[in-house]
Amino acid sequence: MTARIIDGKAIAADLRARVAAEVQRLKREHRIEPGLAVVLVGANPASTVYVRSKGKQTAEAGMTSFEHKLPESASESELLALVQTLNTDPAVHGILVQLPLPKQIDSQKILDALDPAKDVDGFDPVNVGRLATGLPALTPCTPLGCVMLAKTVHRSFEGMEAVIVGRSNIVGKPLIQLLLAENATVTVAHSKTRDLPAVTRRADLLFAAAGRAEMVRGDWIKPGATVIDVGINRVPGAGKSRIVGDVAFDEVSQVAGAITPVPGGVGPMTIAMLLRNTLVAACRRDGIAEPAGL
Ligand code: NAP
Repeated sequence: MTARIIDGKAIAADLRARVAAEVQRLKREHRIEPGLAVVLVGANPASTVYVRSKGKQTAEAGMTSFEHKLPESASESELLALVQTLNTDPAVHGILVQLPLPKQIDSQKILDALDPAKDVDGFDPVNVGRLATGLPALTPCTPLGCVMLAKTVHRSFEGMEAVIVGRSNIVGKPLIQLLLAENATVTVAHSKTRDLPAVTRRADLLFAAAGRAEMVRGDWIKPGATVIDVGINRVPGAGKSRIVGDVAFDEVSQVAGAITPVPGGVGPMTIAMLLRNTLVAACRRDGIAEPAGL
């Protein structure tokens, strides 16, 4: 078998176009222009690239992009003051503080200070709790993207065996809630799981989010399974380094029914979902019906 490739780049482009169309509708019918504020502290090269890309895609979707850059030496109280200003700014519907933060700043304190109605990353305790209890929430972007990709293969996950490898707060744990809400039977594996291949072989839906280059092998896969590879790992290549996922793509694509590539799978979905969350936050603030199907 050769797996169908789930084209995250194209699916993300389609989502961004649908968000942009809804943004135009909000402007036309309600005179609202959704605004996303992104805060970068320091000059971590990967974070700087992400922030630039977020700003560009925000503007392309017709939203206002606010960028705030603080020096690497910024104090926790400076960042907290900026968060408070953004919390009360009516032009800002979504706030994203780019992680990781410099070591003098307690990230959890910053997440706790975000207005939950504006936390488009969905990492604050209120949104985490709302998601876990089945209430409307702003949900972390990468897990939302994973579910949307798997939904291009299966209209329903009801009764399916879903296995998540990784239990981080930003990927694995929110995925548990999203998959349970879709009536999948969910197993979560982590670094202490015994006989991981035996666990992953049960999966109709496998989500690999361990941050371990090409760890998931062909013989870990149930034939025909859908495999969503969240991993982004830089490994040495011929001459310069290259990016690989947590899944050994060549082997696994011989067994799986559908698979996301790295790059070009989950990665592009994350920013597209951030734009989607900003649009949702703008609608909710003003009591406007949220666009269906996003
Ligand atoms: P993380 O916080 O480091 O968590 C990794 C998880 O994987 C942990 O729960 C860990 O278990 C588990 N794990 C590590 N080694 C394992 C092993 N050998 N067997 C089984 N489980 C193992 O990572 P993360 O932030 O969730 O990110 C995971 C990957 O996704 C990374 O490659 C990251 O770059 C990528 N990512 C991609 C996107 C995107 O937009 N595409 C977004 C976010 C993250 P313990 O809990 O026991 O330590």
